[in-house]
Amino acid sequence: MAATDLQTMNIAKSIADVRAAVAVARRAGKKIGLVPTMGALHEGHLSLMRAAREECDFVVVSIFVNPTQFSPREDLERYPRPIEADLRGCGEEGVDLVFHPDVPTIYPAGDQTIVEAVELSTIVEGAHRPGHFRGVTTVVLKLLNIVAPDVGYFGRKDYQQQLIIRQMCRDLALPVEITTCPTIREPDGLALSSRNRYLSESERETALSLSQCLQFACDRVAAGETDLTALRQEMVQRMQQTPGIELDYATIVDAETLKEDAQPTARLVALIAARVGTTRLIDNMVIEPTNTP
Ligand code: AMP
Repeated sequence: MAATDLQTMNIAKSIADVRAAVAVARRAGKKIGLVPTMGALHEGHLSLMRAAREECDFVVVSIFVNPTQFSPREDLERYPRPIEADLRGCGEEGVDLVFHPDVPTIYPAGDQTIVEAVELSTIVEGAHRPGHFRGVTTVVLKLLNIVAPDVGYFGRKDYQQQLIIRQMCRDLALPVEITTCPTIREPDGLALSSRNRYLSESERETALSLSQCLQFACDRVAAGETDLTALRQEMVQRMQQTPGIELDYATIVDAETLKEDAQPTARLVALIAARVGTTRLIDNMVIEPTNTP
């Protein structure tokens, strides 16, 4: 992309500017798509933009590292912010508008209001990151209110997140459709993540154990395993035996409720979170029910 293209990339920093640009598009009868991101864009993010481009006439990408979804112990300060490369990526994908607000635009001084899916936010990933999903739902609701898209695009890579956002939209009767796009992986199975850039070469090798553990669980269910309790234990043991891994959880749960009392014939999701060195990674694989009686 030429420098001139970068200069013409439509970037809004204020809520008023986003609303004005979206209003023009809407008056022209365009379908609006929103792809919320925290930047440090990779092929996973780009796949969401492509899905949006395909189905919508006006694609908005938000780039905002949301402080409220990080706990004080987490990596907010060191989170990568390569904004120029990100803008280039958005330009190359034919994004119509990038919303790149600063923190006070999203969290004005004295703000008091939060939104939380009270049950789904506190289990699995939420149990290990208290307050994380409250930060996610609060920022996503704000972004949906600011942009007012017809469709919001999210990745299955953050399985629980997209489920919680769907729940929030249903509960609050938000006039938006949520589309969940498949997880983009490296050829060896590692799920793409902005945090992968923290990994050393040997840590990256170790990180493969996450997707391998999920694949193991999927294969076992596909081969007819019905004892999910035993399978969960095997997943945990596998990970605990892997040098360089500090496991938070590895489990198989009902894909809708995220509870462990799942029927082995239900739609399931295997979920995992672990620290590799100082980098915390998450991944998941959905296990569709088999049609066999
Ligand atoms: P983030 O910038 O990490 O907040 O992610 C922004 C969006 O991109 C979220 O909806 C993520 O689920 C999605 N995403 C992140 N990684 C991937 C991936 N490997 N494949 C598909 N979507 C992804």
